[in-house]
Amino acid sequence: MLTIHADSWFDGSELRHRPVTVVIDGPVITAMHDGRVAVPSSATLHVGFLCPGLVESHAHLFLDGHEFDTAKRQAYMEAGYDAFLATGRRNLERLRASGVTLVRDCGDKWGINHALRAETAGSALPVVRSAGVAVRRKGRYGSFFAEEVVDAVTAAACVRTRGDSDDVKIVLTGIIDFAAAAVKGGPQFNLDELNAMTVAAKELGKPTVAHCSGREGIDLAVQAGIGSIEHGFFLDSVLLDRMAAGGTAWTPTWIPVAWVRDHPEACGVGPDGVAGLGRILDQHRANLGEAHRRGVTILAGSDAGSLGVRHGDGLHDDLAAYADAGLPLAAVLASATSAPRRAWGVDGGIIGVGRPADLAAFAASPVAGLSRLRQAVATVRGETVWQPASPYSLAAA
Ligand SMILES: [Zn+2]
Repeated sequence: MLTIHADSWFDGSELRHRPVTVVIDGPVITAMHDGRVAVPSSATLHVGFLCPGLVESHAHLFLDGHEFDTAKRQAYMEAGYDAFLATGRRNLERLRASGVTLVRDCGDKWGINHALRAETAGSALPVVRSAGVAVRRKGRYGSFFAEEVVDAVTAAACVRTRGDSDDVKIVLTGIIDFAAAAVKGGPQFNLDELNAMTVAAKELGKPTVAHCSGREGIDLAVQAGIGSIEHGFFLDSVLLDRMAAGGTAWTPTWIPVAWVRDHPEACGVGPDGVAGLGRILDQHRANLGEAHRRGVTILAGSDAGSLGVRHGDGLHDDLAAYADAGLPLAAVLASATSAPRRAWGVDGGIIGVGRPADLAAFAASPVAGLSRLRQAVATVRGETVWQPASPYSLAAA
C-alpha cells in the first residue's frame, strides 16, 4: 500500500487548494481523505502538488530537439535503428523527469515508436502510445515518418495494415511557408481518399490523427471525421465551431514555430520570415483562446523532437503558451491530463477512488507559476514510485 500526502492537487478538472491524502492499493486509488491522514503499514510520500500523470500528445521519440545544427540533424537521419532507439530511450527518461506518464508518438518510418512501446511496457517509464508509420501521398511531405500511397484504394489498404498502431496518422497537408504565412501546396488527399482512410481506421477501431494546417485541409479533416488535428495553424472561428460540434480535437504544437521565430538564424529565416512567423503565432494565440471558449478539446502536444523542441521541456513550453493565450490554469492542466486520455478512451486522467493510480507529483503548485511543473519530484504508477536521483542531472546533460 502507498499513501500520498499532497498540499494541493488537480483532480483532472478542478484545482483543489487544500491538503489531501490519496491511498493506493495495487494499481488503483482505494481511498481519499481531506487533510493529512496517517495510514498504518503504508509507505508514505509527501508532495507539494499532485495531478494525473502528464500526457505529451505529439512527439517523435527517435528525434532529439536540442540538436540545433541543421547539417548535423540531416546527418543524424542516417544514424540507423540502434542510434534512434537509444535516443528514444533517453527522451522517455526526459519526459518522465518532466512528469509525463503517457506520450503519443506521432510517427517514424523505422518503427522506433513501436519498439519503445514494447520494451517499456510495464516499466516505470512513460507509456508509449504509438502511431507507427504514418500515411502520405507519394512524393509529398512526410518522408521521415510516413509510407507513400497513390489513391483511395492504396490509402485504405495501407490503413488496414495498421492493426498494431494505437492511432492512424495521416499526413494531410505540407509544411508552412513562413514568409507567406501560408501552407505550402494544397491538401495531399481529397475527401474521397480521406474518407476511405477514416472508414478503414474505424473498421480497425483506431482513432485518426492528421498532420494538418490551413483552412482547406482542416475543412477536409473535419468533414472526414478525423479524431485530432495536429498543428492546426490558420484555423478560424467557423472551423473551430465545427470542430467543437463534431468532437474534433486539436493539438496546437505552439513551440516549434515559436522557436524558429526566436532563432531565425538557426534555420536561415530572413526578416520576411520572422514577420510572417509573428503573424502566424498571433493568429494561433487568438485561436487557442477561441478554441477554449467554443469548447474544442485541446490536447497538449509540442512536436517534441522538432528543431529546438526538447522532450519534456517542449510540453511545458506549449502549456505556458496556452496559459499566455488566456486559458484558465485548470483548462491548461486538463489539456495535458484528462482531455487526451478521454479523447483516446484511456482510463485515468482523473484522481478519484477506483481510478488507476497514474500520477505526477511536484514540489509546488502551478498556481505560483506553470514553471513549477517543469521538474517532477515523482511519478506514481500503481504502488511503483519513480523519483529522480538528482533533479538537475537531466537538465545539465
Ligand atoms: Zn510531428
